[in-house]
Amino acid sequence: MNDRKFILLDGKASSAAIKEELKIKTEALISSGTRPGLAVLLLGEDPASSVYVRSKEKSCKALGFHSVVQRWAAESSEEKILEQVEKWNSDDKIHGILVQLPLPKHINEEKVLLSISPDKDVDGFHPVNLGKLMLGIEAHQPCTPKGIVELLARYNIETSGKHCVVVGRSNIVGKPITNLMYQKSQHANCIVTICHSATSDLSYFTKQADILIAAIGRPEMIGSDMVKDGVVVIDVGINRVDDVSRERGYRLCGDVDFDSVSKKSSAITPVPGGVGPMTIAMLMQNTYESAMRFSKI
Ligand code: NAP
Repeated sequence: MNDRKFILLDGKASSAAIKEELKIKTEALISSGTRPGLAVLLLGEDPASSVYVRSKEKSCKALGFHSVVQRWAAESSEEKILEQVEKWNSDDKIHGILVQLPLPKHINEEKVLLSISPDKDVDGFHPVNLGKLMLGIEAHQPCTPKGIVELLARYNIETSGKHCVVVGRSNIVGKPITNLMYQKSQHANCIVTICHSATSDLSYFTKQADILIAAIGRPEMIGSDMVKDGVVVIDVGINRVDDVSRERGYRLCGDVDFDSVSKKSSAITPVPGGVGPMTIAMLMQNTYESAMRFSKI
């Protein structure tokens, strides 16, 4: 049996600590006259989206934020959505706006994201904010990549000069985390390689990783034969796989085979309880930071 020690990068505990810190800072901000406000629009009844929205609402309440959640039918028109976003753009009580993705097919997602004021785009998906992220200018950063950097920082994981291999190039995870990890900043400064579905020999790249970030959406695709000893692993994937032994009939797992890879890694995130909770904590942080900026105007 391999009893090698590794650090469990505990996103649940880190997220709880961040929320505690935020609660104290929020009380001070409220005393000075500004209550952070987050508005969320959810279309339809997609179970995963409904869970995410409920969890965002719960976090807002726990922190004392002003929380507005609109749940609309999936058939709602694009025009109505754009009108609602416009109202929130000019509402002084709202500092963060998010429209829960994915949107129904008849809605132009790009048009909706572009309609959100970059100052209130706490998801960090607006091209203005993504452009600033690439340039290293302070702005709202997408919550999952921001949460990954925060988690690495909280566990004092050395990143400077390390080879970070990102698997996945989505706009919400792969591309922004790639851009964050090569920035000349304290908790980044990596050499970065990005892989995707056209990478023919994936393990050729993953085996070179000092830090491996998997954002693929393929259950336990990264096995221990694909990593080197001592690797730091960030598993972004959240996948449901059938499991008849569980009452609910499925279990959640990441893109990394935790049991085997943890035996070779020096640090690794679990799924669930790794990157997921950090994402919500960063949404709350972005909303707080937005309220701070507005309070100074
Ligand atoms: P996505 O948009 O589907 O992107 C997946 C990426 O993986 C794509 O770039 C795709 O390449 C690449 N890929 C697919 N198969 C591959 C293969 N065999 N080899 C190498 N690359 C491959 O997914 P996403 O939105 O980034 O999400 C990824 C995972 O993270 C999902 O499980 C999602 O549920 C989870 N997630 C978790 C959080 C969180 O808070 N923890 C947040 C967001 C997402 P192509 O570009 O070539 O198609």
